[in-house]
Amino acid sequence: MALSKLDNLYRQMILEHANQPHHHGTLAHLDHELELRNPTCGDVLDLQVALKDGKISDIAFSGSGCTISQASASMMCDEVRGKTPAEVEKMVMAFSDMVTGKKDEKADYDELLGDASVLEGVAQFPARIKCATLAWKAIYQAVNKEGEEHD
Ligand code: ZN
Repeated sequence: MALSKLDNLYRQMILEHANQPHHHGTLAHLDHELELRNPTCGDVLDLQVALKDGKISDIAFSGSGCTISQASASMMCDEVRGKTPAEVEKMVMAFSDMVTGKKDEKADYDELLGDASVLEGVAQFPARIKCATLAWKAIYQAVNKEGEEHD
């Protein structure tokens, strides 16, 4: 894993999340479950989401994958709890722009994405971008499905 180019602090945060992922496991009560794969790396992510009052009330993920995919899923789960699907959509778009090097200089990515903003460094490793975005694609699809079904 070519993480050595990343800032030490960022690398440490990524490793901490990957080694002890937050919200790793399964939910007893859930509204949606979604499995996404990143075939280029072999990452598999199973995401479970519970909603209450139009917000994400609980979230968990399982599966296996590389350091970046696991860290990104852990950070994503931390950040989207308590958010509405519309807020999640904004975060997903911001995350995608950030890791593909299309940052809007006026946007505050720390504010929008919390800890997940440390994954900005992934933009330097094009082969890792899909690893980083996997969890965000999953939550985007999960909450959008919710919108369709309950419209
Ligand atoms: Zn990966």
